Amino acid sequence: MENITTIFREKKLKLTPQRIAVYKYLKSTKEHPSAEVIYKALQPTYPTMSLATIYKALKTLVAVELIIELNVGEGNFRYDGNMATHPHVQCISCGRVDDIEGISFPNVNEDVKQHTNYEILASKIYFYGLCKDCKK
Ligand SMILES: [Zn+2]
Ligand SMILES: [Zn+2]
Repeated sequence: MENITTIFREKKLKLTPQRIAVYKYLKSTKEHPSAEVIYKALQPTYPTMSLATIYKALKTLVAVELIIELNVGEGNFRYDGNMATHPHVQCISCGRVDDIEGISFPNVNEDVKQHTNYEILASKIYFYGLCKDCKK
């Protein structure tokens, strides 16, 4: 992990223990947790940290582009500390979100450009399905 102090300084962010805790937690997991999940996970170490504080820390971290917010529908958001462009797959039954690794879509931006005449700047690829536990 890059030095969090350096990153925060570059982004002109105050290094509050809450922000550091939330950021570190997201960097340590691939689970794409919701704010509530992060709140519960940090509770034992930061018993005084409220859910509202978690939301605020998340908002700040998203704004300075240290984490990604994934809109998983119906006003639900998940958070991802992996800033590299990567596709996601979500289970429509239990809601888990996974990274899709090992498949890339190198031509998708170029293909869309050809079809739409847009200059494509970025793309988000999102799949829905049933995870292996829910398939049973
Ligand atoms: Zn599932
Ligand atoms: Zn991800």
